[in-house]
Amino acid sequence: MVKAVVGANWGDEGKGKITDMMAADADIIVRFQGGANAGHTIVNNYGKFALHTLPSGVFYNHTTSIIGNGVALNIPVLINEIKSIEEKGVPAPHILVSDRAQIVMPYHILFDQYEEERLGKASFGSTKSGIAPFYSDKYAKIGYQVQELFDDELLKDKVQRTCEQKNVLLEHLYHKPLLQPEELLNTLHEYRDMIAPYVCDTSAYLWNAIKENKTILLEGQLGTLKDPDHGIYPMVTSSSTLAPYGCIGAGIPAQELKQVVTVCKAYSSAVGAGAFVSEIFGDEADELRRRGGDGGEFGATTGRPRRMGWFDCVASKYGCRMQGTTDVAFTVIDVLGYLDEIPVCVGYEIDGEVTTDFPVTSKLEKAKPVLKTLPGWKCDIRGIKKYEDLPENCRNYIEFIEKEIGFPITMVSNGPGRDDIIYRNK
Ligand code: GDP
Repeated sequence: MVKAVVGANWGDEGKGKITDMMAADADIIVRFQGGANAGHTIVNNYGKFALHTLPSGVFYNHTTSIIGNGVALNIPVLINEIKSIEEKGVPAPHILVSDRAQIVMPYHILFDQYEEERLGKASFGSTKSGIAPFYSDKYAKIGYQVQELFDDELLKDKVQRTCEQKNVLLEHLYHKPLLQPEELLNTLHEYRDMIAPYVCDTSAYLWNAIKENKTILLEGQLGTLKDPDHGIYPMVTSSSTLAPYGCIGAGIPAQELKQVVTVCKAYSSAVGAGAFVSEIFGDEADELRRRGGDGGEFGATTGRPRRMGWFDCVASKYGCRMQGTTDVAFTVIDVLGYLDEIPVCVGYEIDGEVTTDFPVTSKLEKAKPVLKTLPGWKCDIRGIKKYEDLPENCRNYIEFIEKEIGFPITMVSNGPGRDDIIYRNK
């Protein structure tokens, strides 16, 4: 059975925790898109970890972790991540890397920095991990697949051509030092030796696993609103964040995907630029940011303070619909226990009209939130294990949002740990 864990919003919904939890019953966890630009924060018996490339299932002995073909693979980052978890006493994980995954090159990271510098104020707020230049090259068909590292003749020739092409931009657009073919070739030889133990035909491996009735978890990065097609273009990421893409980015037949768990956080946060209709500012935002997540809402990769806002039913309804949601996991609700009342965004007012349909970006920029205020529950709900034991106002908050978004909330997460989860039978 194939399941996916994905985000409904801008990312940071708590997917890492839900994947880590669901991985207890899974055989294989697959990353299918994105790269080292976003991170998952996971708290478990070994400690607290910020993973950027490894799937969240690496902490179990019984799982295989796969870096799928759809991922932007940063080889040194992956190897360092493996080292760092082993140093903290986690048993050596079983990791496979797709021979069709493409490689984030050192120049992708440089181009990401140079382009943000060039754009100045108009920049995208990139994490400068090379993701946009990487995917540009992938679709321009000048990227490097992992398998190419093992063909030295091809590599020599290709490196030469790459340097010629990239150096035109480096010299004339960015006025930066040029690439040296010998240096790049050496780097790629190092990459080859680092990655060799992990490389295989992962789609064949997954196909066999499906035939053996294994449980496979596809782990998404970011959320619907960062999808390049269906998100807030152009303030999006460069690979699809949607569960159906998981089948492409892992190499699995689409009809095998049976369960889509879409993670929604009980309030909103976003990083980077772009419209964020239910955003709040000042002391109100600072307090939520400070209390949010597990130790504050700050980027797992960059440490940047996240932008904060109230729960957005319009964005989340759309976010869940585009994922093909079967289950909603509603997270971080424990954090809201300090509020007397909790505003929720239930509509967008655009040019004097109210809508609950998520609009295209040009209209989104003009949208003003229509807020409804619900009563808070004013207590700590961590440690509660049964849905009926939650305070009435907390259940009302969950059920109000469930009705607004139109998808069943079957899991409620009331703390960062693996066991902080309340299942609801729907
Ligand atoms: P991801 O990228 O979607 O995995 O999101 P993050 O890594 O940003 O996770 C959000 C943060 O919230 C992490 O620090 C988690 O440990 C934490 N977290 C996840 N679920 C809960 C929850 O239910 N309550 C609290 N307080 N923190 C949570």
